[in-house]
Amino acid sequence: MLIVQKFGGSSVANAQRIRNVAGIIAESFLYGNDVVVVLSAQGDTTDDLLEKAAELNRNPSKRELDMLLTTGEQQSVALMAMCLESMGLPVVSLTGWQVGIRTDAAYGSARIRRVDTERLRRELDARRIVLVTGFQGVNKYDDYTTLGRGGSDTTAVALAAALHADCCQIYTDVEGVYTTDPRKVPAARKLEEITYDEMLELASMGAQVLMNRSVEMAKRYGVELEVLSSLVRAPGTKVKEVVKHMEEMKITGIAKDEKVARITVMQLEDKPGTAFRVLNAVSKAGVNVDMIIQANGRDGANDMSFVVADQDVEQAQEALSAYKHVSVDKSIAKVSVVGAGMMSSVGLASLVFEALNDEHINIQMISTSEIKISCVIDAASADRAVAAIHRKFFEN
Ligand code: ADP
Ligand code: ASP
Ligand code: MG
Repeated sequence: MLIVQKFGGSSVANAQRIRNVAGIIAESFLYGNDVVVVLSAQGDTTDDLLEKAAELNRNPSKRELDMLLTTGEQQSVALMAMCLESMGLPVVSLTGWQVGIRTDAAYGSARIRRVDTERLRRELDARRIVLVTGFQGVNKYDDYTTLGRGGSDTTAVALAAALHADCCQIYTDVEGVYTTDPRKVPAARKLEEITYDEMLELASMGAQVLMNRSVEMAKRYGVELEVLSSLVRAPGTKVKEVVKHMEEMKITGIAKDEKVARITVMQLEDKPGTAFRVLNAVSKAGVNVDMIIQANGRDGANDMSFVVADQDVEQAQEALSAYKHVSVDKSIAKVSVVGAGMMSSVGLASLVFEALNDEHINIQMISTSEIKISCVIDAASADRAVAAIHRKFFEN
């Protein structure tokens, strides 16, 4: 079998953890499998590098930032290679450039365009364990790019797809995908399996266990994922197209995103084309918006609110500089309930509202889709909201 294994930052945080992971890799390899391993930077390395950059320049060019951030993953693969060498195992570590992971030019949030498999195949044919830096690629200028936070997941899926791997294992610091973040809600339950669509929504709504783009790519190329712990031996969670018991599982999980802000544009003219002009300006700046609300017009004027990612606030404000009355509220959080059964059971939405009402948490914005309900609330109440909704759905 050809196995792609990805280990996140906490799984390789120090020498002891690296030895532990080396044991997992060695076992798979000695079993006779071809093994390609994707590693993240150790522990908080990526954050530390960002801090170092900020000490010298509040606004560094994205090219240089990527040049810096890619070094974190390079350390991990080299250290892991040394550890495996010390165990007498044949191994080679490769950067995104050496593999030939080609991306578009968008520094900091690059998308993978193509993965060369020639070097990978050659190393596998020579019966070596291949270690690849996660989170990075090279653009058409032969410059390093990074894929966005959590991007090593996407590297792993891209390699699994390109190599037609038999399985893609995402090792992390929890035992799988849970009904909600098990570090915040101890009663969270591990899911045996979850569909790509539900996982994609959970990931996009803030469940950081998988990067949403990795799930999107896994669905597109039919790469089945298993999320599991690098520290505890236990079956993890399978992420796939169709799962058993789908009918029964109305709600799959709850996610929280605190890295969002609400932008309100006030006193807009109440006439055709106004919403288009506001939202078009924002989208032209490359900013995604959701949960758009237009308040009832009074005296021929309207207010419009929408939610953007924290990191996009400045760009959105710039794009709206032609509007006089724009306000930004960063003290919000978005809590989302995801489940394929959402559409067919009207009562589920009211259960969410009831849970928030029980806790006297005010809902500022609501959006619903076939597969999820999201509520914007005060950030300070977010953890309490998630716990309350979890109790309503999963703890009785
Ligand atoms: P890695 O470094 O391995 O990529 P991450 O920190 O990116 O790990 O993701 C794992 C973390 O995701 C867990 O420690 C957990 O706190 C968080 N998390 C949030 N939501 C969920 C969920 N529904 N199921 C499992 N983990 C979750
Ligand atoms: N090291 C990168 C990050 O911290 C990529 C990853 O961990 O997946 O975002
Ligand atoms: Mg991660």
